Amino acid sequence: MSGKKERNKERREKRLQEISLLRTLPYSDRQRWWSKETIAVVTGANRGIGFEIARQLAGHGLTVILTSRDTSVGIEAAKVLQEMGFNVDVHQLDILDSELISAFIDWIKQKYGGVDILVSNAGVNYNLGYDNSVEFARRVIETNYYGTKNMIKAMIPVMRPSAVGARIVNVSSRLGRLNGRRNRIQDANLREKLTNLETLSEELIDRTVSSFLQQVEDEIWQSGGWPQTFTDYSVSKLAVSAYTRLLAKELSDRPQGEKIYVNCYCPGWVKTAMTGWQGNISPEVAADTGVWLALLSDQTITGKFFAERREINF
Ligand code: NDP
Repeated sequence: MSGKKERNKERREKRLQEISLLRTLPYSDRQRWWSKETIAVVTGANRGIGFEIARQLAGHGLTVILTSRDTSVGIEAAKVLQEMGFNVDVHQLDILDSELISAFIDWIKQKYGGVDILVSNAGVNYNLGYDNSVEFARRVIETNYYGTKNMIKAMIPVMRPSAVGARIVNVSSRLGRLNGRRNRIQDANLREKLTNLETLSEELIDRTVSSFLQQVEDEIWQSGGWPQTFTDYSVSKLAVSAYTRLLAKELSDRPQGEKIYVNCYCPGWVKTAMTGWQGNISPEVAADTGVWLALLSDQTITGKFFAERREINF
């Protein structure tokens, strides 16, 4: 391993040790704004990082609604948490299915009245290792970007007003960083437009992902200047991160008491089905930053991107 790689690895390991220490510190009464009445929805929570986020939030005493696209799998996963004594409810939800999204929202309204936290975790990736197939590009973009966005849009009207504000946490990925050193969009002009909040718009994000999908269809995407690693997935997560910033800006002029804070984070490279159980951290560690963001009492943080509880650049 090169000296630089070695140093980066050491730095990351040190940070993970710091976080495992931080996780042992209980929240103080001043920080603990939530209770059993606080409702958190987690998408794709039947396994992997989503399940862990649900488990940890429930462990902090919130009521968690574990959602799963397969009803029976969701019920089984929820049962594990219920048997641990946690307040966990379960509902079917496929973020690609607008009717299921509506049915879920109706159920929420009837049973709980509203929601305080949404964790958009559901996602797909069909590549492993050095593969870079775009065979499922449309499904990847539809799920990770449009599915996440549609779910958020449906949820916002049922997010409850509160003094501390509601929260949306989107699980993104460093692979989708706009201005990372590697794996970024080559077109500096497009990067600038997507980075600058004055020029960033939903239409621009949609147009960017559509242009990628069109190039996939035309079989010219390889020379399109897209990220080189897990291209479809990286484009989808780039869109999720950009949308996070945009939405945070759009929601920022809400009056006090009706605020919704929106952030995204990269969980790291995690041992889950998505990575074929490769990865260098457990789902438990990977869930940490998401849970921390969901429970943050600092109300100034919105529209940011985090990894290992630290802000990183988009
Ligand atoms: P898993 O494959 O273990 O879990 C993905 C979850 O998303 C599953 O519950 C899956 O449901 C669900 N899901 C997929 N499509 C839909 C859909 N249309 N509607 C509802 N739920 C759906 O992956 P991870 O736990 O690793 O990934 C969780 C999140 O973390 C993803 O957004 C991923 O992109 C992100 N991430 C993961 C990294 C990693 O290294 N693992 C790195 C960076 C980001 P089902 O069980 O039915 O398939």
